[in-house]
Amino acid sequence: MHKDTDCGSPRKSDVGTEIIVAGWVNRRRDHGNLIFIDLRDRSGLLQVVFNPEVSADAHRLAESLRSEWVVQVRGKVNSRLEGAENPNLDTGQVELVAEELNVLNSALTPPFEVDDDINVSEDLRLQYRYIDLRRQNMQKNLRLRHKVTGIIWDEMTRRDFTQIETPILIKSTPEGARDYVVPSRVHPGEFYALPQSPQQLKQILMVSGIERYFQIARCFRDEDLRADRQPEHTQLDFEMSFVHQQDVTDVVEALYSRIISETRPDASVPEPFPRLTYAEAMSRFGTDKPDMRFGMELSTITEIAARSEARVFQSVASDGGSIRGIAVPGCAGYGRRQTDDLIELAKRFGAMGLVFIAIDESAESIDSLTEEQVRGPLNRFMSIDVIKDIARETGAAPGDLILIVAGDEKMVNRVLGELRLEMGRRLELADPNEFSFLWVTDFPLFEWDEEWKRWSPAHHVFSAPREEHIEFLESDPGAVHADLFDLVCNGWELGSGSIRIHDPKLQLRVFNVIGYSEDEISERFGHLLRAFEYGAPPHGGMGLGLDRLVALIANETSIRDVIAFPKTQSASDPMFEAPSSIGEEQLAELHIAVITDEE
Ligand code: ASP
Repeated sequence: MHKDTDCGSPRKSDVGTEIIVAGWVNRRRDHGNLIFIDLRDRSGLLQVVFNPEVSADAHRLAESLRSEWVVQVRGKVNSRLEGAENPNLDTGQVELVAEELNVLNSALTPPFEVDDDINVSEDLRLQYRYIDLRRQNMQKNLRLRHKVTGIIWDEMTRRDFTQIETPILIKSTPEGARDYVVPSRVHPGEFYALPQSPQQLKQILMVSGIERYFQIARCFRDEDLRADRQPEHTQLDFEMSFVHQQDVTDVVEALYSRIISETRPDASVPEPFPRLTYAEAMSRFGTDKPDMRFGMELSTITEIAARSEARVFQSVASDGGSIRGIAVPGCAGYGRRQTDDLIELAKRFGAMGLVFIAIDESAESIDSLTEEQVRGPLNRFMSIDVIKDIARETGAAPGDLILIVAGDEKMVNRVLGELRLEMGRRLELADPNEFSFLWVTDFPLFEWDEEWKRWSPAHHVFSAPREEHIEFLESDPGAVHADLFDLVCNGWELGSGSIRIHDPKLQLRVFNVIGYSEDEISERFGHLLRAFEYGAPPHGGMGLGLDRLVALIANETSIRDVIAFPKTQSASDPMFEAPSSIGEEQLAELHIAVITDEE
């Protein structure tokens, strides 16, 4: 080894010992006669002093050091002078007095400082990812990720799961996104698809008698990217045979509770994880991935609001629409600018407008409200009794601001769900040390696709309908609920799972509802249906996003901060400059001709 001690380890008790350290020059400071550097390796920082009286050679060489040079220093650990200690540093009580300095490598001036507080564009960070990853925070995130993966391996092994790798070059495995495809050189004109998830393979493993499979699997989906999406993401993928929903969720609850307790001992986790049906989640929170760390639940006030003289309310109610509201605590004092800002926000989420009622903080109670104590653009069309009823229904108290959205129920839920989240964030209502896991269950099996005018699977085509709903499959697909469950935490969907269809005849019926032709079925799913004909056990499982989980534990808002080499928002890698064009020869070998837009 080029070192015998990590930079971050020397303490007061080591004073007097001789050590060899190696790392990167974090910063150099010249103090007249003395030169100081902070030397950094993955364990932390250590102050090194070059004193010409201790070693003239080392001191002379130290004059040439620059940021990010790689050096090795031999010397003695010394106590820092009183007043010169650095309480922010683990090694802040000591310093290393250099006796010998070796430059292992020089470095160009880095494009940004290796510091957790840098303020540079993400593109630059990704272009120079090797420098970005030197930052303590990124090192910490990658180690955290490793730790989480380690716990998964340990816990799943303990529970008798077998880790099995499934192929990356495969055939389309639809999960609702576009496929990434790879041309075949050996089979001209044919393509592999990268798996959107190992879904069909793990189901086939159940037919193979594996009974308990897991994998930390890479999933490839060509979809529009957002802060929490990547073209390739990692998930804990698992599948179990002979199970019901509860057996699957029990495994996840035990595993996730353990992961949080070992990585965030300061945090709290509910036990057991609460369960909400999809319908309850939508009605109470306006979303199927609610952040349950705070209240501000949605209330329906359609009938109450329709009693007012306000035209918008009357017409929405008579057209079968929905009028709903939330009471935002303590915001009655919002001025024009702030309410305008909320209206803008509501419009951005798809509302035509937003009605508010501010209840003056001076009011003694809702029952005693007077017209002078309420404020809002539509109040003159509402009697004080209607306003009181709205306040009661939304659970508002004096000092609260009631936000009301009217229209199509789906839109109302979406807008209020988003406003609730936004206000929760602004008012810091959520405890950052709480991991509010919950299960959302009983999703509809199908969603109506307005654009294509057909039913499409709400999750994927392999999820089983609930036993008691199978009879409506053809007659009323929208009424069929699935044995499907999502794990949600603090407003993030962490994963989805289901009990699967294992009867080929039932699987065919589901394909038919979606409207696949016979040819499509045999071309895309023939292999799976054939496997099912050879004795498929009842089975179920989940796919749980690892990137999101680690980001949540690390308190990062972007999953890119917990992935070593992520892609940008436009699916490119600025370091490798991927994707890139390939040469004519390679194209010819692959039997591919590229047509550019101009052509
Ligand atoms: N394959 C599914 C997904 O990636 C998860 C599952 O149902 O196991 O979302």
